Order: sequence, then C-alpha cells, then structure tokens
Amino acid sequence: MRLYSTNNKDLSVSFQEAVFNSLPQDKGLYMPEHIPALDPLFIRNIQQYSLQEIALTVATALIGDDIPKADLKKIIDDAINFDAPVKFLDSKTAVLELFHGPSYAFKDFGARFMSRVMGYFSQEDDKLLDVLVATSGDTGGAVALGFLGVEGTRVTILYPKGKVSKVQEEQLTTNGQNIRALEVDGTFDDCQALVKQAFNDTALNQELRLTSANSINIARLIPQTFYYFWAYAQLKSQGVNEVLFSVPSGNFGNIGAGLLAYKMGLPVKHFVAGTNVNDTVPRFLTSGSYDPKPSVQTLANAMDVGNPSNWVRIQDLFDYDLEKLRQTITSYTYDDQETLVAMRDIFEQYNYVACPHTAIAYLAAKSYQDTNPGEYASIFLSTAHPCKFPEGIDADIFSAVQYPEGAELLADKPKLAESLAVNYDDFKDYLLKNK
Ligand SMILES: *Cc1c(COP(=O)(O)O)cnc(C)c1O
Repeated sequence: MRLYSTNNKDLSVSFQEAVFNSLPQDKGLYMPEHIPALDPLFIRNIQQYSLQEIALTVATALIGDDIPKADLKKIIDDAINFDAPVKFLDSKTAVLELFHGPSYAFKDFGARFMSRVMGYFSQEDDKLLDVLVATSGDTGGAVALGFLGVEGTRVTILYPKGKVSKVQEEQLTTNGQNIRALEVDGTFDDCQALVKQAFNDTALNQELRLTSANSINIARLIPQTFYYFWAYAQLKSQGVNEVLFSVPSGNFGNIGAGLLAYKMGLPVKHFVAGTNVNDTVPRFLTSGSYDPKPSVQTLANAMDVGNPSNWVRIQDLFDYDLEKLRQTITSYTYDDQETLVAMRDIFEQYNYVACPHTAIAYLAAKSYQDTNPGEYASIFLSTAHPCKFPEGIDADIFSAVQYPEGAELLADKPKLAESLAVNYDDFKDYLLKNK
C-alpha cells in the first residue's frame, strides 16, 4: 500500500510510514494511492463470511503485502474479537451496534487495530513506543484498552479532571500494565496543548520514541470499513438488498470509512451524516462553502467538532466535486432538545436506550426516509453504549440501561492516576523520570 497526501499527490509513503507519522508534514491527510475494488463475487456471497473473514479480505485488499497475510490475520483476530450486531427495530429500521468492544464505543475498532499494527511494526525496535494521547472522554478509553498489554508499547493518557464521565474515567484509570493516566487540572484543550508541545520538543523526542494515537491515523480508518461490510452481510442474510447508512458524525472518520467501503464496491443506496449543532458539514453540503466554526458543547459531546479533520479525506474520495458528494451523502443537524426527544421516542417506541450520538443518527435516518420513501432498510450506527453518558440521558430512561458485563467490576478496581498541573515542564519531567 502506498499513500499520498491530500495536499500533495506526488508524495508517496509506505503504510508503515503513514501509521507512525499519522499525518504528513504538509498537514494534509494520507490517502491510499489506489482504492482496490473487491471481487464482486465476494460481495455477492458476503453473507457466508464471518466479521473476521470479511475484515481479512478487506484489509488485505487495502494493505497488500506490507503485512504478510498470516500476520494480518493474527492482528485482526486479536483486535476484532467482539461482534457488531445489526438489530432490527422495525421492518425497515435497524441499528448497527458498534459498542461491544472493551471501551463500549466504536473507536475500539480503530484503536485496537492500530495498536496491533504499531506493535507489529515495532517488533525490531528496542526502544519502547510511547503513545501520548489527550482525551475528552471516548478516545482515551479506546486507546487505553486498545493498547493494553500490546508488547513494545506504552500509553500516557491526559484527561481533564472532573470532565469525563464515571465509566470513561474508570476505563482510563484502572488498567495498570503499559497504560498510565494523568489527571490534568485543566480542560481538554490544556491536555491537547501539553501533548502537542511534547511532540514538538526535539530534546524529548531524542529520549523517547513518541507517537500519537490520532483519530486521523490511516490505521484507524481501515478497520472502520470492516463493520460496514459486516452490516451489509447481516442484512443480506435477512434478504435485504438495499441499505442506507446513517452515521453520527463529528470528525467524520466513521462515515469516511463507510465511504471508502463504498468506493471498494460495497453497495449502499445512500449515506446520511447526522451532526449536533456543530454543523460545518451540513452547511457546506447546502451552501457549497466550507466555513468552520469553533466547537460548541452538546449532549453528544464526542461529536463537538467545529472543523472536522477527516472531511478532506471525503472530499478527496469524491474528487472535490460537490455534486458527486451530494448524490451520495446527505447531512442533517439537530440540537440538544431534538436529541432528547429522539432518545425518548426510541425508548417509547422500541424499548431501546440509545446514547445521544446514536439518537442523532436515528433522527438523520428518519429525516432522509421522510423525503425519500422507498423499500430500502435504514441502518443507523450506534457508536457508544448508553451507560457512558449518564449526564446526557434523562434519568427515567437511563435507569433502564443495562450495563455490559464487567462494567460493575471496573468500579471496584483502584484508580491509578497521577495529578498534573497545566505545566509543560512538569509533564516533561514526568515523562523523563518514568522512562
Ligand atoms: C468519536 C465518536 C463519534 C464521532 O465519530 P467521528 O468519526 O469523529 O465522526 C460519534 N459517537 C461517539 C460515541 C464517538 O465516540
């Protein structure tokens, strides 16, 4: 696999380089030079395969011989060791549950695959790979649990004190082993600034082999294609042939992977992107002008993104052609009030508890169905388990949440976190004294 930068099509780097750099120096995003078309016979018979078999076929087509197939199979079987079931709510509406991994969110697909790919490419290195990550909640848990026990790697997570939910904090701070948590007396932006400064610190980079677990890493995008194929396989085995995917979107990495799957030959009728009031993309698709704004806090806080970093990838996939984009993607925006009403709707109609992000995807699917009736099935993606968002769900609905197995156990584990002031020298000291 070779990749170019969206800012420079002449740049050509290997998969390994793209994984460790995360993004090119020119601040573009890595894109595959060649998007492979999957064998139509494979797609036609896809319902015969398991999630892991589908993942291996898709990953092999994309990555090629940068990782030998037997090794890739090991990585996949180890990383994707949980299901992503499609559940029908009624005859035309279904939810794809992406929260059955260890952090109860879809980011497990990306983080677990990326961690193992990084571990694989680090085998010959004698220096530990130090992953630094700032989190506002969801990414940190996926990265912590994704890298937990992966040889040759160590993760340091910075999270803002008092600003993540209980389950999120437990996932960040109860791991031990190769995972360290720093509880920063500041905001998410402070955490991010500390991490950024570390990456720009030449002296520190000579001492430590630092890398980020950035959400735009190509090794996080690739595994997110798997579940689109797997959802289609499950629908096909139920006799459904035409599907629409509705994706709750923030940085647009999740839907970006869906669109990559589509370009590889997955038959999809249409994609719908639901956003909260951070509506840069819906405004762009309507007006044609890209006008990012500072992010606004909402109930669906993992989607509070004013300038979605993966959007360029999607533009690139569609040759920066607005009409082509509009033929494939429709985007809708909803405020917190509409999100709360949707969660109640889903609960009352289907006895199903959706997290705020998931509720936005549900609304977006409905908005599209209302104006485009047809025989297709609408699949909305559930990106997180509702138990992670006690503050975002009305209490009477939240009381119906069934915690996943093991979630209670987390609460009994001791919290392992060191306190950190918003002070770069302290952070650097910590990293150097705990090498
Ligand atoms: C990260 C996240 C999203 C947004 O996904 P993007 O790939 O950034 O669009 C949606 N829902 C949840 C629960 C998330 O954690």
